[in-house]
Amino acid sequence: MKTLADLLAEGVAGRRVLVRADLNVPLDGETITDDGRVRASLPTIQQLTGAGARVVIAAHLGRPKGAPDPKFSLKPVAKRLGELLGQDVKLAEDVTGESAKSAVESLRDGEVALLENIRFDARETSKDEAERGALADELAGLVTAFVSDGFGVVHRKQASVYDVAKRLPHYAGGLVLAEVDVLRKLTEDTERPYVVVLGGAKVSDKLGVIANLLTKVDRLLIGGGMAYTFLKAQGHEVGQSLLQEDQLDQVSGFLTEAEKRGVELVLPVDVLAATEFGPDAPHEVVPATGIPADRQGLDIGPETRELFASKLADAKTVFWNGPMGVFEFEAFSGGTRAVAQALVDSDAFSVVGGGDSAAAVRQLGLPEDGFSHISTGGGASLEFLEGKELPGVLVLED
Ligand code: ADP
Ligand code: MG
Repeated sequence: MKTLADLLAEGVAGRRVLVRADLNVPLDGETITDDGRVRASLPTIQQLTGAGARVVIAAHLGRPKGAPDPKFSLKPVAKRLGELLGQDVKLAEDVTGESAKSAVESLRDGEVALLENIRFDARETSKDEAERGALADELAGLVTAFVSDGFGVVHRKQASVYDVAKRLPHYAGGLVLAEVDVLRKLTEDTERPYVVVLGGAKVSDKLGVIANLLTKVDRLLIGGGMAYTFLKAQGHEVGQSLLQEDQLDQVSGFLTEAEKRGVELVLPVDVLAATEFGPDAPHEVVPATGIPADRQGLDIGPETRELFASKLADAKTVFWNGPMGVFEFEAFSGGTRAVAQALVDSDAFSVVGGGDSAAAVRQLGLPEDGFSHISTGGGASLEFLEGKELPGVLVLED
């Protein structure tokens, strides 16, 4: 696989280079609430501009329906990127149209242009290879080389991720290389004990990764909304908590499988049970085996926080994905904070994956350097850990 270093060695001064970046940040109106992904994209862009390249960036934001929608404009991102780079970033008004062409043509050495949200073009995510190919042709026409650096999208076979790499000399960017390197450490010659903490809303999002991790880890700690399907599978009442009835069989299978393999599967022993879903919902600590029928668990309880911290204390490798509770509400953020703090306190090689988990770490004010790595890609890192091939990485290999 050729890398950014190879491209720099070839010389890029005056060359137009397309960078696929992941700038999909959470927005509140036009305010970026977490700019982690923008900052993670800087090193690759700066190495290129520093070497005199004319950088053209393709990126998406949110899920527009294949047509321009001002709500999903990259305008706030262009502004933030410009501030962080310390130079103006020209935002094209379209993806590959007249505005994009003129923005690209007017670039001077070391300058940066950002194409408007690539998902404003329905061909980006089309299942039809010819449709994606047509967009990829237009993108390829703007530049002479492609750097793939949007780790958060490498599990997607999309025009600006996959098809464009088939049409241009292609190179893996620094972020993609770093992410893949870290994830390899979680799948090969892992230092033990290897402990994985999973949470988040839905167990169905994470079935594949649980199945694969059960063959690799020493301990699996389960919190968040998905824990209730496990508790129910063990025969406990979970009240109004998040429950995926249709996943009960699968989850029972995981419980059996864990026992057979000698994997310690640790579930909450107490929870914060609330009368409703809301930031100020009245709540109390109850045993996980006795959630009242009219209550819902919105966070792991104090005993569980201690239990999880003790199960993390001697770990040599930790992967954490998914908040332990509804961390967006201060009252139910304590469990997520406790797990994050346990990782900060540990000497383990610790990796945080998942958009909401990474945002939680920053939102709760934990030091980012307290973790070995905070992944920018939720879906991509989970698919890698499931053992799936990532099309956006594979395509860089030939
Ligand atoms: P990530 O993006 O890190 O992979 P997910 O998207 O799987 O995480 O899940 C994050 C969401 O899970 C958060 O919005 C959080 O509020 C929600 N969540 C966590 N615990 C609970 C719970 N007990 N009940 C309802 N929602 C929960
Ligand atoms: Mg999420």
